[in-house]
Amino acid sequence: MAKAKKTQAHIDGAVMTDEGLSYKGFIMDPIVEKCEGCERAVAHDDKKYCPTYAKPAQKWNQGVCNFATHVRAEVTKEGKVKVNPLKASKRAARGR
Ligand code: SF4
Repeated sequence: MAKAKKTQAHIDGAVMTDEGLSYKGFIMDPIVEKCEGCERAVAHDDKKYCPTYAKPAQKWNQGVCNFATHVRAEVTKEGKVKVNPLKASKRAARGR
């Protein structure tokens, strides 16, 4: 049986500057509370950052982050957006 390939998110080459953590020309903000549990978040020094979005707070202000690995947005019958946490088994299946 073939093993599932899983790529580990990273921010190699990120440099802390006076303005904040600089990575690929962007100044990155630390992740926000809603990001906790997302597999894309990467620890750097004593904080976590997202290699996908430099400004996680702005991403969540627009609604549910569409790249989040730990939650999924679903629209209810009433048209409301509902955030569902993904179970660990579903997260594991996504990696296959
Ligand atoms: S992908 Fe979205 S939820 Fe995950 S760490 Fe980045 S901003 Fe947060």
